[in-house]
Amino acid sequence: MKKIPWQDQILMIPGPTPVSSQALLAAAQPMMNHRSSDFKKMMEEIESGLKQVFQTQSSVMVLTTSGTGAMEACIVNLLSPGDKILACPNGVFGERFIKIAKAYQANVEILESPLGQGVDPEKLKNRLKEDSKQEFKAILITHNETSTGVENNLKLLSSARGNHPALMVVDSVSALGASELKMDEWKLDAVASASQKALMAPPGLAFVAFSERAWEAAKSSKMPKFYFDLPMAREFQSKGETPFTPALPVLYALQVSLRSLMDEGLDSSFSRHKRMAELIQTSLGKMGLKLFAHPEYRSKTLTTIEIPAGVDVKKLREMMRNQYGIVIAGGQGSLTDKIFRIGHMGCVGEKELLYTISSLGKTLQELGFNANTQEALKPFEASSLASIHH
Ligand SMILES: *Cc1c(COP(=O)(O)O)cnc(C)c1O
Repeated sequence: MKKIPWQDQILMIPGPTPVSSQALLAAAQPMMNHRSSDFKKMMEEIESGLKQVFQTQSSVMVLTTSGTGAMEACIVNLLSPGDKILACPNGVFGERFIKIAKAYQANVEILESPLGQGVDPEKLKNRLKEDSKQEFKAILITHNETSTGVENNLKLLSSARGNHPALMVVDSVSALGASELKMDEWKLDAVASASQKALMAPPGLAFVAFSERAWEAAKSSKMPKFYFDLPMAREFQSKGETPFTPALPVLYALQVSLRSLMDEGLDSSFSRHKRMAELIQTSLGKMGLKLFAHPEYRSKTLTTIEIPAGVDVKKLREMMRNQYGIVIAGGQGSLTDKIFRIGHMGCVGEKELLYTISSLGKTLQELGFNANTQEALKPFEASSLASIHH
């Protein structure tokens, strides 16, 4: 079996996602002095684009790190050792938030949710009501849990806080740009994201925005920090600089990918992702596969699928990659042998979805699962033809 080289593969994984050739070319530009007026101009454009995506008036810090670094930056700048916080995990990334908080000695209580489901706003509301002394300093939420394919309802979760002063700290790494997030209107206090998912840029940059309340809390935070000192980052960024040498090629690419997101329009991006999610989820159901995430909470940026009995998922992924050049993801953590995942965010359209689904059907057939590919492709016919002609 001839292997398809990675340059010709389609990344149908939940990050890194495909990057447009315009953005890739931008990344190949010569380096510049990051203490120059050219750099300042670029940073100003990027920050203004990010503010639109975060839907905030607050500054958005640009950090050279991955998404996890942005999560860590939220924790170490908002909290002090011993602070009580309420974590609401529903998968591996929610658990990661807890690990970071614990590494810095936060006192973490966990509000459990069943895997495959979102966090129940009523449950959060009730737990906060019981906290009569209002000891919780922060609530940790994963907007889109990439390990289970679940999207939480951020708006409802944030309003479930009522008058409780806890800061709403959100990991929106795998949703921002693809699914609506109104930071200011929904009163989110800290939002973390990264360059390599729905923002369609290479990995290497991460972003954090804080509300006024969060900047206030940052003043008394005593957790140790140096590289991720956000008040320092804000100071530099207000002058169009970063404290340390930034990942310039990623910034060049991000500038281009943000322009294309602005050209498409945020609302169009949201409806495109919603349409793609509905399409692939309906289609895989018709194929005879069982989706993992509860229908009420299904992600708009990736789909999680239960591994059919008797199918070797390692083999499935290998065959998809070697025969068709399609890269899909396996399960993570406790779901490693239970599910596989298909990402559909950023620069991925219906054509890629259609090709992925027909290849998946053929591969499953070869592996002994009776996939109904013909039925699975039906939802695509009308809609994909329209998108291709468009
Ligand atoms: C991808 C992702 C992250 C960040 O992962 P990095 O590898 O550190 O960029 C964090 N949270 C969620 C929900 C993610 O999907």
